[in-house]
Amino acid sequence: MKQLLLAGGGHAHVHVLRALAAQPLPGVRVTLVTPYARQMYSGMVPGLVAGHYTVGQCVIPLAPLARAAGVDFVEDALVGLGADRGEARLAGGTARHWDAISLDTGPVMDRDALPGAREHGLFVRPIETFVERFEAWRARAAARPLATVVVGGGAAGVELALAMAYRQRSAGAPGGRVALVAGGSVLAGFAAGVRRRAVRALRDRGIAVHEPAASAIGADRIVLADGATLPCDAAVIATGASAPAWLAGSGLALDARGFVMTAATLQSVSYPAVFAAGDVATRTDRPHPKSGVYAVRAGPPLAASLRAWAEGRDPAPYTPQRRTLYLLSLGERRAIASWGPLAAEGDWVWRWKDRIDRGFIARYGGGSPPR
Ligand SMILES: Cc1cc2nc3c(=O)[nH]c(=O)nc-3n(C[C@H](O)[C@H](O)[C@H](O)COP(=O)(O)OP(=O)(O)OC[C@H]3O[C@@H](n4cnc5c(N)ncnc54)[C@H](O)[C@@H]3O)c2cc1C
Repeated sequence: MKQLLLAGGGHAHVHVLRALAAQPLPGVRVTLVTPYARQMYSGMVPGLVAGHYTVGQCVIPLAPLARAAGVDFVEDALVGLGADRGEARLAGGTARHWDAISLDTGPVMDRDALPGAREHGLFVRPIETFVERFEAWRARAAARPLATVVVGGGAAGVELALAMAYRQRSAGAPGGRVALVAGGSVLAGFAAGVRRRAVRALRDRGIAVHEPAASAIGADRIVLADGATLPCDAAVIATGASAPAWLAGSGLALDARGFVMTAATLQSVSYPAVFAAGDVATRTDRPHPKSGVYAVRAGPPLAASLRAWAEGRDPAPYTPQRRTLYLLSLGERRAIASWGPLAAEGDWVWRWKDRIDRGFIARYGGGSPPR
């Protein structure tokens, strides 16, 4: 039997597992290694923070998916990879041999980029840890007025700032404040209409936006690059994604930021027995933003490429879409839609997002009935 190792229970791999349940790979033993028994769906995390969802509604249980696919499930994490030796080292101390490996482990956050963040910051990744620690924030916010500062002006930072402000308002916690330290303009890279709507939503909900980047975090304050100081009881770190450190020693060709360089077949450009999809990968031929939408779309072509490998065929190339739909929630059940240069906003956008998100996790056996 050939050994295929699936590393990470991310957006593309949940589809691979479902495809394997429908049609197993001939002569291949498949193992999934991932650190949590469930996959928390990031797109629903702002809704969880706002109080619209329970945790159970936002997760895909991975062990049943693996079982249905005849895949061995190992709750552990990759900490080392030897592409030339076909070896993966796990945090639990064991090593696994593979004939092919597929990486969908997502990004990590650099915990040392911002002084003080390791000690005082509430990092949004790993999302499992964030959700756990968010409960502590909720208890503190209910007990006394908190100054919360979200660091990061991208989609995740904006959605979380709005969700936390909404949660404070709806919990009747008077005096609590949320600020956003954007490190540049809010939602840079999005169309002007989307940015305008987001800035207005933040202003209307009393969220102060600071454009200078954060330069240090202390126990009760945050210092900005222009020298200003903001009171801060809780600092949520939603700055960009970084590549996992273990890729550096893997022997794989990596891009300038340390992510796996992949070709149109989702194979590493240097080791064709290494496949990668989602945020951990960078397409050399068609670079695109790292986002859940692209990770989801990579699922079916990744499953097809792994099948081609198992059957000794050449995998077919895959062309990712040029534009994606982003739906940004605004705290309450209202959202902004972004499609290329177009923007729209309304309660109906939130209902649309809610249907898409709950539909996604239900497809993989996740979620539970709405509240
Ligand atoms: C709050 C928030 C909201 C977001 N909202 C959206 C949105 O609405 N739309 C959108 O397009 N994008 C959104 N994103 C971005 C989105 O989360 C990522 O682009 C997406 O998760 C990438 O998918 P992935 O499959 O590559 O990785 P992930 O979803 O991160 O999955 C990685 C998997 O690998 C596992 N893993 C991690 N490390 C290891 C390891 N060392 N070994 C083995 N397994 C490992 C993880 O536990 C997880 O199961 C949001 C991000 C955040 C933080």
